[in-house]
Amino acid sequence: MTHPTNAATSLAEIAERYQDHRRYPHGIAFMDGQYLSMAEAKISVLDWGFLHSDVTYDTVHVWNDRFFRLDRHLDRFFQGVQRLRMNLPYNRQEITEILTNCVRLSGHKAAYVDMICTRGSSPTFSRDPREAENRFIAFALPFGSVANKHQLERGLHVAISEKVRIPPNSVDPSIKNCHWLDLVTGLFDAYDYGAETALLLDTMGNISEGPGFNVFTVKQRHLKTPASTVLPGITRQTVFDLCDELRLSATAGDIGRDELKSADEVFITSTAGGIMPVTRIDSSIIGDGRVGVVTRRLMDLYWKKHDDPEWSTPVSV
Ligand code: PLP
Repeated sequence: MTHPTNAATSLAEIAERYQDHRRYPHGIAFMDGQYLSMAEAKISVLDWGFLHSDVTYDTVHVWNDRFFRLDRHLDRFFQGVQRLRMNLPYNRQEITEILTNCVRLSGHKAAYVDMICTRGSSPTFSRDPREAENRFIAFALPFGSVANKHQLERGLHVAISEKVRIPPNSVDPSIKNCHWLDLVTGLFDAYDYGAETALLLDTMGNISEGPGFNVFTVKQRHLKTPASTVLPGITRQTVFDLCDELRLSATAGDIGRDELKSADEVFITSTAGGIMPVTRIDSSIIGDGRVGVVTRRLMDLYWKKHDDPEWSTPVSV
């Protein structure tokens, strides 16, 4: 196996081997000891990650050639791997090098960077997950956002799904996972409603999260986000940190539908887009229907922090 630090392959060499921009975004992946174009990065259909969604992952982004809060993402990734009783074939420093190499080879200055650990499969095709050889995969793609430019300016339109609920006792949402059938069902529910994305409820009927994001309310300058049944998002934590700096109070607790819809401001948070305003939920207009003052202030500070060495690390040194 090629050691991950031997990133001798250049982007041009990889690109020459195989590129198909119609089906694969421009990016670089790492798997089974090699750097590959996205078109070449394929896993076996026998991998439990594919067969059973037996996988955890994390996504960090790069902005202006700097990773944003990489340590936090690595902490969460390693915790997820441990809680799923998997073993990574690389240590933290090696994974940092692999991610850095993927971004450098991709040439992207703004990137969406994934680290993935699948259960893999066993050499004897045993049905015992303890015998599987876990697989590490990474890739760097162009930066993507839940909300597009227009939606960031006018706020997203969101619908609360009536079909699905998030049951924390079956698939633990605090481990970043690929069991997305509930979230995708919610998304189709939202599209059928005429909205742009979805929010799901938990089994108690409280607001939980959406497909790839957490949610916040602002009421009289106090911020609130659902406490449980959610992935503890790094952007969600970042909002708490920004609130400390701005001397705004923020708590995690139960949020009912009515409380959400009667908030002064609502926004969602994700590595894929940062802090993104919501101005309509179902048929209810939030506040005055425009992006709120607190949301804007947080958005500005969030993006400023991307150049701050305390919050970000350079890709190229
Ligand atoms: N909730 C879910 C289900 C997610 O998949 C994600 C990110 O992909 C988030 C919340 C937001 O987490 P983060 O801010 O770490 O990107």
